[in-house]
Amino acid sequence: MYEELENLSAEEIIKWALEKFKDRVVLASSFGAEDVVLIDMLSKISQQSTVHSPRIFTIDTGRLPQETYDVMDRIKEKYNIKFEVYFPDYKQVEDMVSQYGFNLFYKSIELRQLCCRIRKVEPLKRVLSNVDAWICGLRREQSVTRAEIKKVESELRTTNYEKQTIIKINPLVDWTEKQVWDYIRKNEVPYNALHDKNYPSIGCAPCTRSIKPGEDIRAGRWWWETPDKKECGLHKKS
Ligand code: SF4
Repeated sequence: MYEELENLSAEEIIKWALEKFKDRVVLASSFGAEDVVLIDMLSKISQQSTVHSPRIFTIDTGRLPQETYDVMDRIKEKYNIKFEVYFPDYKQVEDMVSQYGFNLFYKSIELRQLCCRIRKVEPLKRVLSNVDAWICGLRREQSVTRAEIKKVESELRTTNYEKQTIIKINPLVDWTEKQVWDYIRKNEVPYNALHDKNYPSIGCAPCTRSIKPGEDIRAGRWWWETPDKKECGLHKKS
């Protein structure tokens, strides 16, 4: 459906998205390396053209590393932008932690997925209930679960209201890790300090560790699980 967009550059895809969806498109940011690249691009594109100001949201799961909060503040200051911040439903978190404990994610895949659902997927549903499209920093080479994704794809997702078709835009899908870091350095984009401590992929603090030389870039995410299970559900179509 959107095959003709596959040849556009990351900047061209973002411009297309802002022109087409205006305030009905949001950038999902967890402030990893790819996300800060996209924020820099969005900011520059919106300054240079008459496209709609970009909306950016983040989900604070309540278990993020301090370094992630630090880079959020640095980005906010440098680009003079506001983020929409979403939290999990406090009652669901209270019930889950009361029943299964603070470290439930280590006990089983089912409990880890429950925690991801309550802390990440449910807040995302609220965001997507009110938009037509979202922009993400996914790259194909990040993992086996991401090898097939396209620059622009349509997905049917369960939102707060109903099953809803949402357009997912992945401007960096064909970028390499080197391209991401070349962009960050060239444009002096603030980035999460954990990246300098061998954390190529950063999520919640208890579910992320540094990687060893030669390990897969997502080896530090839910490191106790097998590679085909390493997703939190945010990017799972439903
Ligand atoms: Fe919970 Fe870990 Fe998922 Fe964060 S990454 S929501 S702490 S299971």
